[in-house]
Amino acid sequence: MQNRLETLESILERLRVSIKKNGLKNSKQREEIISVLYKNRTHLSPEEIANEIKVKDKNTSISSIYRILNFLEKEKFITTLETDKSGKRYEIAAKEHHDHIICLECGDIQEFVDTAIEEQQIKIATNSGCKLISHDMRLFVVCAKCQERNRV
Ligand SMILES: [Zn+2]
Ligand SMILES: [Zn+2]
Repeated sequence: MQNRLETLESILERLRVSIKKNGLKNSKQREEIISVLYKNRTHLSPEEIANEIKVKDKNTSISSIYRILNFLEKEKFITTLETDKSGKRYEIAAKEHHDHIICLECGDIQEFVDTAIEEQQIKIATNSGCKLISHDMRLFVVCAKCQERNRV
């Protein structure tokens, strides 16, 4: 798992500032979604997030989860991962940079960092006279487990 770059308390502090700036009312759900994603080791779908939160609050609806996720993404507290098969998944933004390997059959997601690839991307941008701001590298694969299952 990639390290967190910021404490949960500090993220929640920034969230309160951004809620005020956007003229919204404080809601427990926004903070709960942030902490679920902060503590979770994996990439969660809106449904999984809703399930985690329902444990504490039975009034949570999936549409309000979607609304909050859009807000948190717009405000850059969380990032989206388009996975093809298993839809949109979310993770906390305050994580060390990493790229993703996504299985097209079972939807499993692995994280990786490859220094050579990272450097090569900077080089490509620089050689074109550009300054690299960010990149999104996703490898779509059939994972080892699925290859094994397909054989039998
Ligand atoms: Zn990368
Ligand atoms: Zn990730």
